Amino acid sequence: MARGWPIGLLLGVLLGACGGDDGPAGGADDAGTVGADAAARAEAAVDGAPDATPRPPGIAPRGAVAGEVAGEATNPVQVGQNGETSYRVDVEPGEHVAFRLDFDTSLLWVTLVVARWDGTAPVTIGADDAGRGLRVLAGFDADGPRTFWATVQAGPVAFAGTLTVTRTPFADGAQCSADCDRLLQLPLPNDPARDGYDVSAAIMRYQFGRRDLVMFLRHAGQSMSDLGKAPFHPEDLSQWDGQPPGTDDGVVRHLSHQRGKDVDVSLYGLDGDAPWRSYCQTRVVTDGYECVPATVQGFDADINALLIAAFFESGRVTMCFLDQELIAAVQPAAARAAAAGTLDPALLPLYSDGSHLQHWPNHHDHVHVRVSEEATPAGP
Ligand SMILES: [Zn+2]
Repeated sequence: MARGWPIGLLLGVLLGACGGDDGPAGGADDAGTVGADAAARAEAAVDGAPDATPRPPGIAPRGAVAGEVAGEATNPVQVGQNGETSYRVDVEPGEHVAFRLDFDTSLLWVTLVVARWDGTAPVTIGADDAGRGLRVLAGFDADGPRTFWATVQAGPVAFAGTLTVTRTPFADGAQCSADCDRLLQLPLPNDPARDGYDVSAAIMRYQFGRRDLVMFLRHAGQSMSDLGKAPFHPEDLSQWDGQPPGTDDGVVRHLSHQRGKDVDVSLYGLDGDAPWRSYCQTRVVTDGYECVPATVQGFDADINALLIAAFFESGRVTMCFLDQELIAAVQPAAARAAAAGTLDPALLPLYSDGSHLQHWPNHHDHVHVRVSEEATPAGP
């Protein structure tokens, strides 16, 4: 597989401009095709004989990635200096596959990269090079069987660790009916434009949510994609262990965000994009920053009302935090959408009950969504 990943170790935690419950630290990764000569290699199996086995289009030929190793549930990993090893996993439809690389915290230079067979070539869909002792990425494909590779790339020193592969039944949906509190990593989007969310700047070890929240995020992404909108950026669910993001570094980034019940989601501007950015002039208040009245600018209240509706549809949202100036713009937008038939009128009261959508400082650049931790009611 091709190298060339930007190394951006995110050991430090940058508190955003908005206090302790806000934006993501920086990060960088790219997506691109790896293994440019994969098609040629695919012509020959590992043993040199043609790979004539009939296979679904999502399953790669044997040897599509040079030197690929069959990924087991637990894999001892040894990679030489600046070397790499790719672990191949063929996943059934409806299987969430989680890759977790554990290693000694004294090792710093290691990157975990996940690639997906797109029918023609392995395509990198995400990477994790941040933090101590752990790399985590997850994949999912609802459409059919699919080959994924998890590649461990060592840096200037040899690497030793353990790669764990966990398969969990998973299905998309606007509602969750079973096993809703299981902590799962938000899968890497196979195509951000189609999946509707982009995690390329996220800290991967902070991308763990309850199954239901992960479902609702994906549903919201698909809803935005269906509307032709750019992907939004979900950040800071919980750590892999259910603790608030930053607990691992001793710099907790949030007062909540435990057990995977919370997520911060970027908002849409009138330009159609949803990067992390403020939509007003801010002023300092006791607990952080809030919008100066009448300074909201560039905020697409209509689309953001629908974004929030995609979560409200679950029936499991207990509260959302958003700056009061932005709420004031979203409320009439929701009413307009209900009148136009693009938003379920039954959801309208949630925008104005002061609970499901409420003001909190430091939410001038994103909306914070929280889901219930109560057991899912039985039946429809
Ligand atoms: Zn938050």
